[in-house]
Amino acid sequence: MVEQSPYASLYENDPVYQMAVKQLRESASILGLSDDVVEALRHPEKLVQVKITVRRDNGKLETFLGWRSQHNSALGPYKGGIRYAETVTPGEVVALSMWMTWKCSLAGIPYGGGKGGVRVNPKTLSPRELEELSRKYFAAIAREVGPDVDIPAPDVNTNPQIMGWYYDEYSKIAGFHAWGVVTAKPVELGGLGVRVISTGYGTALSAREAAKRLFGGLEGRTVAVHGFGNVGIYTAKYLAEWGATVVAVSDSKGYVYNPRGINVEKAIEIKEKTGMVTDYREGDVKISSNHMELLELPVDILVPAAIENVITRENVNRIKAKLVVEGANGPTTPEAEKTLHEKGVVVVPDILANAGGVTMSWIEWSHNRMGCFLTEEEALSRLDKIMTINFNKVYDEWRKKYSIYPMRVAAYAIAVDRVVKAMKLRGWI
Ligand code: GLU
Repeated sequence: MVEQSPYASLYENDPVYQMAVKQLRESASILGLSDDVVEALRHPEKLVQVKITVRRDNGKLETFLGWRSQHNSALGPYKGGIRYAETVTPGEVVALSMWMTWKCSLAGIPYGGGKGGVRVNPKTLSPRELEELSRKYFAAIAREVGPDVDIPAPDVNTNPQIMGWYYDEYSKIAGFHAWGVVTAKPVELGGLGVRVISTGYGTALSAREAAKRLFGGLEGRTVAVHGFGNVGIYTAKYLAEWGATVVAVSDSKGYVYNPRGINVEKAIEIKEKTGMVTDYREGDVKISSNHMELLELPVDILVPAAIENVITRENVNRIKAKLVVEGANGPTTPEAEKTLHEKGVVVVPDILANAGGVTMSWIEWSHNRMGCFLTEEEALSRLDKIMTINFNKVYDEWRKKYSIYPMRVAAYAIAVDRVVKAMKLRGWI
C-alpha cells in the first residue's frame, strides 16, 4: 500500500520509507496493535534538514543537503549512523532511523533510533573538502545531538576519522570533552579498535548461529557476500575463519566467483590496494561486472551487505540460497521476503543480524562515560555473548509462535512491544 496524503511530508512518498512502514504495519496487524499506535510509530519525533556550503579546492562554493532523523526516544537517546551518498533522501534517512529504533530495542540496549545522511558522493571530495563538509554538517546539527540526546556513528561511506572530526567539532561547540557524542571514534579519541569490525563480526555471528540451527554448523557451507565494504569484508573474513567456504564477493564494480572458494584475506588486500575487488585473480575465478548476479549464485548462505532493496520481486525467484543473513539495512523487500519464506528460505532480518555495530557502540559509549578501560578480547567476547543470546531468543520465539510468518515478524514482535511498553510507561500513548 502506498502511503499518500494531500500534505505528504518530506518522506512519505519515498519507497524505502514505505517499505519500513509496510514491515511495521504487517507485524502490527499480526501482533494486534491498533492503527492509532501504528500512526504514532510511523513518524519520526523530529526530522531536521541542514544546508552545508563547502568551498571546493577550485575556489567555487558548493552546497549540499543533509538530514538527521530522530525516530523514537522512548528507550533512551537516539542512536544511529550517518551516511554519505548521492542517493540519500529524507525518506531513506527516516526509514533507517525507524529500523534503528527496532534494532536497539531488540538488542536490549538503552537507546532509541536515529539516522543521518548527507547527499554527496564522498569519492568526489578531496580529504580537505571531506573534512570541511563533515565539520559543517555536525556543527549544523550540534543543537540536536549530545551524549544523552542523540549519538551518531558511522554508516555507508563514513568512518572513524569522520567520527573524530564530529567529536572535535561538537566538543569545541559544547566546551567539554564530549566522548559520548559519537561512537566508533578512533582509539586515540576514546574509541574501541574492534568497533570497526563489529557489524561484520556480528553478522557472521548471526550466520553462525543460524547455520547451527539449519544445517548443524558452518563447516563446508558455501557463502556469497554482496558488498565488500565495512560489513561485507568482516562478515566474509569471520565466516571463512569459522569453517564456511566463501565462494563469491562483490563491490559496485562487479563480483568474483570461485566455486572452490575465495581467499578472503587476499581479496581484502586487493580491495585495499586497487579499490576494486574485481581485480582479484587467484585460481580459477570468474569475474563479472554485474554485481547483482552474485545474489543468484548457487550457495547455501547469502549475505546482502551493501544497500537496501536488492532482493526484490524481480529477482527473488532466481535466489538459490537456503539462508539469507541481512548484513545491510533493508536489502529484502517485504514481497520478496514473503516469497522466500514460502519457498522455505530463512531470512535473518537486518535488525537482528547487523546489530553488532550498534551493540559495540553501546559498549564503547558506556565505557567512555564510566572512564573505564576494556580490552579488545573482552569487548568481542561480550558482543559474541549478546548476539548469540539474542539470535537464539528470536529464533525460538519465531519457531514457537510465529513460524507461519518470516522470522522478521518474531523480531518485530519483541522489538516493537518493548518500545510500545516504554511509551505507555512514560505516558506518551
Ligand atoms: N550504522 C550502523 C547501523 O546501521 C551502526 C549504528 C551505531 O553504531 O550507532 O546499525
